[in-house]
Amino acid sequence: MTKSGSLTKDPICGMNVDEATAPHAERAGKTFYFCCEKCQQKFLATPAGAEPATQSGGCCG
Ligand SMILES: [Zn+2]
Repeated sequence: MTKSGSLTKDPICGMNVDEATAPHAERAGKTFYFCCEKCQQKFLATPAGAEPATQSGGCCG
């Protein structure tokens, strides 16, 4: 049922996302993946050096 691809965690909401299809952003040489563009935008809006505000319970589900 799952398509092959590595799952990683959305740092904003904690959901598991597929690296192959998820929106992503790079920071400090690391790539972060998001469940949706909302989380991506939230991450990008966080000043560098600051921890992105996490939101438990999901953001769009
Ligand atoms: Zn999310």
